[in-house]
Amino acid sequence: MGMTDNYLWEALDIGKSFGPTAALAGASLQLRPGEIHALVGENGAGKSTMSKVACGAYPVDRGTFRLSGEDFEPESLTRAASRGVGLVFQESMIIPVLSIAENIFVDKLREFRRGGLLDRTRLRREASVYLVAAGADFDVDADWSTLTLGQLKMVELARALASAPRLLFVDEATAVLDSAGRELLLAALRRLRDQGVGICYISHHMEEIFSLSDRVTVMRDGRTIATLDTASTSRSELESLMVGREISDSLYPSRPPLENPPIVLAAEGLRYGEHLQDVSFGLRSGEVLGIAGLAGCGGTELLRVIAGVSRAHAGTMLLNRELFAPRATRDAMRQGVVYLPGDRDGEGLLGGASIRENIGLAILPPTFHLVDNGAEGQTAKSLMASLRIKARSVEQTVDGLSGGNRQKVVLGKLLATSPKILLLDNPTRGVDIGARAHVYEAITAAIAAGMAVLLLSEDLPEVMGLSDRLLVMRRGCISNAFTETVGLTERQVLSHML
Ligand code: ADP
Ligand code: MG
Repeated sequence: MGMTDNYLWEALDIGKSFGPTAALAGASLQLRPGEIHALVGENGAGKSTMSKVACGAYPVDRGTFRLSGEDFEPESLTRAASRGVGLVFQESMIIPVLSIAENIFVDKLREFRRGGLLDRTRLRREASVYLVAAGADFDVDADWSTLTLGQLKMVELARALASAPRLLFVDEATAVLDSAGRELLLAALRRLRDQGVGICYISHHMEEIFSLSDRVTVMRDGRTIATLDTASTSRSELESLMVGREISDSLYPSRPPLENPPIVLAAEGLRYGEHLQDVSFGLRSGEVLGIAGLAGCGGTELLRVIAGVSRAHAGTMLLNRELFAPRATRDAMRQGVVYLPGDRDGEGLLGGASIRENIGLAILPPTFHLVDNGAEGQTAKSLMASLRIKARSVEQTVDGLSGGNRQKVVLGKLLATSPKILLLDNPTRGVDIGARAHVYEAITAAIAAGMAVLLLSEDLPEVMGLSDRLLVMRRGCISNAFTETVGLTERQVLSHML
């Protein structure tokens, strides 16, 4: 469209390095008013950095921004927001000691003061308006502890909306959402688009990108390599642009069938409040047992009980035919049962510490102070290679790693303990397609080494593709069990989830 195109906002040839890492190496992006523009790329491609420099969270090393045709220097988050450029961060920015309304107006609380006191009535009333606009299905007085990750995202979207943005960056907002929450949030974004807001939407979710976006820009290694009209491209074209090679059809590695292997973990009549109501099953050695279900089905609580995070209110577990009642995750880990939590914030990576130190922490009991750097380094190196963790060396701190690479370090930490049972809660949530394949390979390798895997996933093709057998959970119960997954259709599984 060239000369006739009126862009709302442009980023031209942006460069941004963090030490030796060039997060952006000549990236350009142009947004129109009233469009949803998807930004896609593998983990570490530079998407989050692009959204952050656009909104003034970091200065750039080179390049220029233009807003409505004029040079524009975002300078700071507050200044960018005051010019109508907003961001919903990939990381949670919620401040739990403040109320929902206070979070929404966190930058503007001064405006709600009257004679030194906060006018809470007006604060709540105005916050409610933005909550509704963000698609919230709960009210401004809701208790933080009752909100799902998806609902927390809506609070963050409401906060961004409170500065009346003309341009909004939304970074992987739906990665943590269940399908109902996702629909509400996407509907909110569509309404904003219809009001003329330009939206840059970062997501790994292909179906979402195709149903939502008008155009899509692909990033790779800090560069924007193509911008396409969504209607005239395909999923496989995008995927091959993202990775720079063709993706093979078989993302899910196939395995020979198992010959009735022994049960390593048996659960009988587990109960945990409303979340688990009489759950019984057996996990066999060398198998991936999948759990399919919508968010809130009870799968997370089941994994937490097995992992020793929560104590069951009733029921028993046997690990290799012996009573198993772990009091803490360390306790379960000592007995060979390790757990990958579903929420990334609680993942337990030690900030400021290196990949080697983080992996070493898992191997050593907490009271053990004499660290064998050499052995730890060897383990970390081999795990870094087998999981294909993208970092300069094992000595790099985990802080600057992208989401997918952090997830691989957490997985590496667990594997370093040579476990017998892996409990995985949505291991590829928010992880791009390249890193996803590496996680799948790690699961396959774990199975080949004789481990058993209990895999909870809201991604139906994934849990069906990886599992030997499949349990379906609905409202705290196992609603169905499939003894094999070959030939199973999504529809068959879905009917037991809803
Ligand atoms: P994406 O969002 O596409 O996954 P990011 O923008 O988060 O990618 O990261 C791009 C690259 O920049 C990665 O290699 C990442 O490790 C690095 N990086 C991002 N933020 C920082 C930071 N604050 N410090 C150091 N390195 C960083
Ligand atoms: Mg990111």
